[in-house]
Amino acid sequence: MPAPVPRAEHPASYWAATRGPGHGFDELTADRETDTLIVGAGFTGLSAAYRLRSMGIDCTVLESSDVGWGASGRNGGMVVPRFKHTFPALAKDYGVRTALDMHCAAHRAVDLIETLVRDEGMDCGFARCGHLTPFVHAHDANRFAADAVWLEKQAGDAVPRLLDRIETEARTGTPFYTGAYFEPRGGAIHPLRFSRQLAAAVARRGGRIHVGTPVLSWSREGASVAVRTPSATVRARRLLLTTNAYTDLTRAGSDLKCRVVPITSSLIATAPLGESARAAILPHGNVVTDAKRLTNYFRISDDGRMIFGGRGGASHKESNRIYRRLTREMAQIYPALADCGIDFRWSGRVAVTLDGLPRVGRLADNVFYAMGYNGRGVALATLFGYMVADLSVGRGSELGPLTDPLTSIPFHAFRVPAKKVIMTYYKVRDTLGI
Ligand SMILES: Cc1cc2nc3c(=O)[nH]c(=O)nc-3n(C[C@H](O)[C@H](O)[C@H](O)COP(=O)(O)OP(=O)(O)OC[C@H]3O[C@@H](n4cnc5c(N)ncnc54)[C@H](O)[C@@H]3O)c2cc1C
Repeated sequence: MPAPVPRAEHPASYWAATRGPGHGFDELTADRETDTLIVGAGFTGLSAAYRLRSMGIDCTVLESSDVGWGASGRNGGMVVPRFKHTFPALAKDYGVRTALDMHCAAHRAVDLIETLVRDEGMDCGFARCGHLTPFVHAHDANRFAADAVWLEKQAGDAVPRLLDRIETEARTGTPFYTGAYFEPRGGAIHPLRFSRQLAAAVARRGGRIHVGTPVLSWSREGASVAVRTPSATVRARRLLLTTNAYTDLTRAGSDLKCRVVPITSSLIATAPLGESARAAILPHGNVVTDAKRLTNYFRISDDGRMIFGGRGGASHKESNRIYRRLTREMAQIYPALADCGIDFRWSGRVAVTLDGLPRVGRLADNVFYAMGYNGRGVALATLFGYMVADLSVGRGSELGPLTDPLTSIPFHAFRVPAKKVIMTYYKVRDTLGI
């Protein structure tokens, strides 16, 4: 008998404190049959459920803790029409045609969020307020300049542009950076509100969602799948595993968990800033993910706080040291914030793949997955929910490396010491700009 999984509360994040009205979802207590069973109520699982309901397909979502409890309710809320790699790098590895398809997919992902927010009348702070990728080193300036040139030449997309030092300082409110890549179509969202309102939309459309219901294991029974929870068994024609960096919570993820490495990312939210800081920092309302390998990302909240994120610890343990380091990194960029109070601090897990790209695929005949967003999942996970739903009903389409099988990572058991080595290596490269 597998060990019981305790139902965990949301971390004490800024998002949890401002998440809005409650929902009426409860635990699953009785056996049930459903056409499609989805494990995990984050962006991927919820958007898959939404897509299936729009096709009239019966579906049930089971969530171990609460809607948006995983990365979907903890992230920085940057809505970015990009992958981790630049488009010329993608073209070099996978060919121009595939890179162009991936460019379209990245924008489709942001468009999908915009459409969901509009069609469902969501109040989740979504705005295309513009996304900045600022940099310090010439190496990054060259990479992003090449990206803008490639997009204009190959995709006819002249919208993203490179900002010089003066314009970057005017937009960020700090002389820290030497330039930035500016994507005006990127934006921001309140991620936990979006998760909860997407769940409400699924329920309005007849999808069933149960929280506090960990899936302990699954097995194939003839043409269907039997899924076990602490108090019920669900039989389904199809199973979608959308547990991303939290795939190792129970044995149900044992076939998938070795295909991604979970990395901790942490955030702080300051007390509301004074008027002068508010006027000076990010005055155009842009949001930021800097160009470093160990990236910092930040934005100003609706009530005027700096929300600032960066790498967490190599293991998943919380420690004051992580948040002190984040506060120092914030003060390096914005010295005026050195002594401002920190009201919220929290962490979450990002799922990293070996090639830095997410995947949608099939694990067995009627078992599917979508995962591995490498910290770019707000828009991409929402799109991949649609993609995995389509794949499960035979409507999937090939999309270069994104639909290649996600294979197990060699030496996965050594991931914690390996992460420490890789983080140090990345820190050195970030410092030297190589
Ligand atoms: C701190 C942080 C900052 C980030 N910032 C950004 C950002 O600014 N922009 C961006 O684009 N991306 C960002 N990301 C990445 C983004 O949040 C994720 O890629 C995205 O939320 C993944 O969504 P998901 O639905 O696949 O997974 P999750 O939201 O993690 O959902 C998985 C769910 O599965 C549930 N689960 C697991 N096992 C079981 C089980 N056995 N039974 C039942 N339920 C189970 C978990 O409880 C969890 O709720 C960030 C991530 C983190 C952690």
